[in-house]
Amino acid sequence: MLNFIGLGSAFNTKLGNTSACIKKGSSLLLIDCGGLVFHRINELKLLNKVKNLYIIITHTHPDHVGSLGEVIFYCHYILKIKPSLYYPNEEIIKTFLTCIGVEGHMVDIEFNQIIVFKDKHIGEVKLSFIPVSHKHTVKSFAFILNINKKYNIYYSGDANDIPANIVNHLKDDQLDCLYQDTSGIEEGGQQAHLSLNQLSTIIPLEYRHKVYCIHLDNQLNIKKVLKKGFSIPPIITRNKMNKHIDS
Ligand SMILES: [Zn+2]
Ligand SMILES: [Zn+2]
Repeated sequence: MLNFIGLGSAFNTKLGNTSACIKKGSSLLLIDCGGLVFHRINELKLLNKVKNLYIIITHTHPDHVGSLGEVIFYCHYILKIKPSLYYPNEEIIKTFLTCIGVEGHMVDIEFNQIIVFKDKHIGEVKLSFIPVSHKHTVKSFAFILNINKKYNIYYSGDANDIPANIVNHLKDDQLDCLYQDTSGIEEGGQQAHLSLNQLSTIIPLEYRHKVYCIHLDNQLNIKKVLKKGFSIPPIITRNKMNKHIDS
């Protein structure tokens, strides 16, 4: 459902920063914008002819907002458009944007936890943010994305757990798919991400085909992920872009 621009964790530069999008006509919905993302979307020409850009931010770690400034500046100076930005903590996002020189008139920011908007190409989008546990130094949000009252997607942002009601939604078929940052590091204690073993404990076998592992670190064994019945979404490439991107 989502097209992935990158699938890596902060240090997995080979897979790029985890970031996803939906592109339809001249509209682009972008999820997170880490340090490697602007370079990548520029190479993929994803911003070409874009007239409506919606950016969802899960939290302010650099692998999620590192090139957000470039994207906003590109919109302002090159595309001459004003993107919409969604992150439910006004103080944090405004402070960050001010520090990197983004001016208030360059972007529309929405801080609500539940946001509904209509785009002429993508359709009706409902976005419901959910605070999740990640690192105590940042406010991280997962979200449920509902498109045209049809698809219900859960996206973890960065989180070391999945809320119990979300797992129940997956079991009740109220969620079409779930994207979770998954780590190969299995040490005990409080981690930043959910480990593959923890994910396997939370999600029973019969529901794993709807669960996609993202934000993959170098320690994660991909074969093990697939053997356990989870999926890994493909990363869009220049050649396959048209096939994948206009979903
Ligand atoms: Zn993070
Ligand atoms: Zn991250």
